Amino acid sequence: MKMKYWQEEIETASRETLDSLQSERLIATVKRVYEKVPMYRQRMDEAGVKPEDIKSIKDITKLPFTTKQDLRDTYPYGMFAVPMNEVVELHASSGTTGKQVVVGYTEKDVHTWGEICARALVAAGADETDFVHVSYGYGLFTGGFGLHYGAQQIGATAIPVSAGQTKRQVTILEDFGSTILCCTPSYAMTIAEAVEQAGIDAAKLPLKAGIFGAEPWTEEMRQYIEDKLKIKAYDIYGLTEVMGPGVSFTCEHQCGMHVNEDHFIIEVLDPETFEPVPDGTIGEIVFTCITKEAFPVIRYRTKDLGYVTREKCECGRTFARMSKILGRTDDMLIIRGVNVFPSQIETVLLEQGYAPNYMLIVDRVNNADTLEVQVEVTPEIFSDKAAALTSYEKKLQVAIRELLGIQAAVKLVAPNTIQRFEGKAKRVIDNRKLHD
Ligand code: AMP
Ligand code: ZN
Repeated sequence: MKMKYWQEEIETASRETLDSLQSERLIATVKRVYEKVPMYRQRMDEAGVKPEDIKSIKDITKLPFTTKQDLRDTYPYGMFAVPMNEVVELHASSGTTGKQVVVGYTEKDVHTWGEICARALVAAGADETDFVHVSYGYGLFTGGFGLHYGAQQIGATAIPVSAGQTKRQVTILEDFGSTILCCTPSYAMTIAEAVEQAGIDAAKLPLKAGIFGAEPWTEEMRQYIEDKLKIKAYDIYGLTEVMGPGVSFTCEHQCGMHVNEDHFIIEVLDPETFEPVPDGTIGEIVFTCITKEAFPVIRYRTKDLGYVTREKCECGRTFARMSKILGRTDDMLIIRGVNVFPSQIETVLLEQGYAPNYMLIVDRVNNADTLEVQVEVTPEIFSDKAAALTSYEKKLQVAIRELLGIQAAVKLVAPNTIQRFEGKAKRVIDNRKLHD
């Protein structure tokens, strides 16, 4: 049965109802973590804040922040707020540097996780008749399980394909009749290519929607994937420390991601002063978990940049919406003093008609930063004369200079020479670190 919402009452609740629910849950969470998690107690004591000082969501700014370093320092179970015998599942962040972060879920937490993913699935048009093809990795990474639980909660059929073996993904799409594909946008691209290479007409597949996330992707990339796979593509956001995928999700209006505010409080802060910024202003996104039992984080600094709006959405959901992630403070490249996000370059490439197969190589030569943009071309262009290729390269170079004000070396490379990804893409090689 087609549903507009998974849980209409809460997803369309009035702002007053949401505010008071958040206040009540925040008060209870702060009290609990103060009692159960030594690090929170110590931090709050240092900041001179007592649980009684938190009387409503307005008081959230009195609380200290939590960072990834705090979670590493308490590795593996130091931040758990329940005894381990109540923890039914563990996951860990993919963390490429330093120790990974371990997070835990009680039975209720697992249910909540499924619930928020069910909301995202329903917003993408899913019901119990759907076949949900999950190509996020299953394992310690949270991607696979969240959408798996969500699909099962709505009574749909979960297909836990996991990431990899792309040819097999295509066979399953075709033979099992997958209707909703869940994976990273980069992997959706890889799968779309494999569908094409198998000589399959994407329009004839039963696939109708995709729920893609776990990495930043541009609006242009979304349209590109929609066109290639002949589906509607939805964004889903989340992070291990807060829950996993499903913290926020897009509805059919594609105008930002609705934050599941009955479970998480979102704040957007000035990245330098850490003071809250007004709605619509870009800043670092910070989350507080207000229903999690095993691993509730308080004011967790995500390092993701975006903005929030509380304007009414046409879908009827009242949950605040966050913008697409514009980048992570970690991913921002500073090239000759100019701040560059890989997503800005992706936008230029797609606007100029290239496929999003590219690599950014940053280096330092004679004390000056250099940026090389390698991008694949279509076989038709590649077989053109060298002079024609150079003119394409020039055109891209100009477009990048116009947008970012920096001179980049552009190198068009042969089709299928740039790495493809099954999970999160890694499109930046920063060789400057080698010289430091
Ligand atoms: P992980 O905990 O390994 O799943 O990584 C979480 C991080 O992935 C977030 O902090 C974001 O930087 C990124 N991420 C997750 N979902 C999205 C999304 N929909 N758009 C952009 N970035 C995302
Ligand atoms: Zn909406």
